[in-house]
Amino acid sequence: MSAALLLQLQRAEDRVTTLQGEMASVEEQIAGDPLLEQARIEAQRRLDEQTEADGAVNDLDREVTSMRARARSLEKQLYGGSVRNPQDLLTMQRELDVLVRQLGEVEDRELQLMEQAEEASSLTRSAAEQVATLEKHRAEEAAPLAKRLESVGAALVEAQKAREEIHARVPANELRLYERVGARRHPAVVQIVDGACGGCRLPLGLNEVRNARVGPGLVQCANCDRILAP
Ligand SMILES: [Zn+2]
Repeated sequence: MSAALLLQLQRAEDRVTTLQGEMASVEEQIAGDPLLEQARIEAQRRLDEQTEADGAVNDLDREVTSMRARARSLEKQLYGGSVRNPQDLLTMQRELDVLVRQLGEVEDRELQLMEQAEEASSLTRSAAEQVATLEKHRAEEAAPLAKRLESVGAALVEAQKAREEIHARVPANELRLYERVGARRHPAVVQIVDGACGGCRLPLGLNEVRNARVGPGLVQCANCDRILAP
């Protein structure tokens, strides 16, 4: 009969372990959502990229504005009649030609950058939407998780109490054997299944089976050392 008590103790201990695992899992879910953290990092990265792209467009825009102003001023001087020296006019014409060519190149580049900035802006928007969706989900989960933590916590207290009660009823020498076997084998106590050890599945002798059922002491499997419960 004492093996049956050890079997109860083992079940009570397994229940405590399971509930502790559940507690840890719920606590982890309350502490943080890895998906949300990831989405926030991604959203920040997209925002940084967009800021950089917008900055590049603005820089180039300022350059274009100043180049256009310079071109207008050159045209005014060239065609306004204020400059008459042919050498000066020639120099100005050359500068204007160079400026117009450069302006074309810079404007092409600006167009490219604007497209990139637009793409970055769209990616930033969807990353922010993803964060908002996950935050909403997390907010909805908060109350059920808190409730779950409470109920698992209560079940754990009950399970620990049950374990202590059984533990107190097991004789010290049997407890020592149970702990020694348990250090190497889990489960340490197994039931006999069709005349075989429920742990290693090896068939048991008739004597072993009888002793395990009606004998006064604990019987162990000769092969795996586990304690046999009827
Ligand atoms: Zn065995």
